[in-house]
Amino acid sequence: MVVTYHRPTRAIIHRKALKENIKHEVDRLAAGVELFAVVKADGYGHGAVATAQVALAAGATGFCVATLDEAIELREAGITEPILVLSVVFPSYLSLVVDYDLSITVATKDWLMEAQEVLKDLEETTAPIKLHIKVDTGMGRIGFLTPAEVKEAAEMIEASPNMIWEGLFTHFSTADEKDTAYWHKQAERFKAVTDTLDHLPRYVHSSNSATALWHDTEMPGNMIRYGVGMYGLNPSGHELPETYPLKPALELVSELIQVKELAAGEGVGYGKTYDTSEKEWIGTVPIGYADGWLRKMQGFSLLVEGEFCEIIGRVCMDQLMIRLPREFKVGTKVTLIGKNNGQEITMQAVADHLATIHYEVCCMLSERVPRIYQE
Ligand SMILES: *Cc1c(COP(=O)(O)O)cnc(C)c1O
Repeated sequence: MVVTYHRPTRAIIHRKALKENIKHEVDRLAAGVELFAVVKADGYGHGAVATAQVALAAGATGFCVATLDEAIELREAGITEPILVLSVVFPSYLSLVVDYDLSITVATKDWLMEAQEVLKDLEETTAPIKLHIKVDTGMGRIGFLTPAEVKEAAEMIEASPNMIWEGLFTHFSTADEKDTAYWHKQAERFKAVTDTLDHLPRYVHSSNSATALWHDTEMPGNMIRYGVGMYGLNPSGHELPETYPLKPALELVSELIQVKELAAGEGVGYGKTYDTSEKEWIGTVPIGYADGWLRKMQGFSLLVEGEFCEIIGRVCMDQLMIRLPREFKVGTKVTLIGKNNGQEITMQAVADHLATIHYEVCCMLSERVPRIYQE
């Protein structure tokens, strides 16, 4: 999809907010603990490269992404710090891992054996690949399950001339919840693994944003994988109060492209799901479900000059209609996410309307919406 610059709809990314969120976190970390900024999924929709550059300036010392292509994007943009791919990379792509000097995740013994075969076939002069062993302590997603399996994997890696054991990590599934029992169960399992090993690799890490924010004094490891907190969003949604004020980095804005007064009894939008009950001022905004502003957003409100205006009728692919309290000029700013004349619509409010989490809201803003960076 082509990025649509010639339209007033845009996501404005505030570098200062990103910077402050990261700085705040870096300053809280115990001595020797590093922050890797998680910029997967195009930096949670905020733009991976731009976000990574801000993170670097604010004190991040490495990056995490989900896929090989996301890692390559950062390297191609000139980022030279360590980049860890968090999910599984097929061994058939290992030459790219070598070429781009990436760190990748090993989650099974079968993968290790296959990788060793692939590496043997590569040029003898290639650099060894850097591996982080993933331990599944209770997320049930990827990783080794027992300390014995982890130990075996570590020994296999250390015995291989083509591999370097660079990291050991796990992922918590309930760090954003009030009830910490399961978090502690996972932490104990991770400790059982580290206790079994006679030495540890360069990086040991377990913390996503929620663990870093709410388990800061007890989190295992010397590096954190800081994602959603950097973008200024409370990882727990409504569940836990922010440890420090997080500053939302993304604003979504547009403008009224048409304003008209309809007579009573007129239909608005596909399927005529809305009828004016009296004379009503209707504004049209150029954003729709192809921009990631889903049809389910019908009934939600947008801000125009500090007033909440309901989305009426069905959201179209490229446009939507709102009911205005009075006539506004064409070109008046409309805020879909962010502050407007003292009022605010948060990403969380959008998520609540969609019965989902804000992570999903920022990821679903499509490529068509330009990301504009401001200080
Ligand atoms: C996405 C992800 C993170 C970052 O999570 P946040 O909640 O955004 O901080 C950390 N670790 C892993 C393994 C992830 O997949």
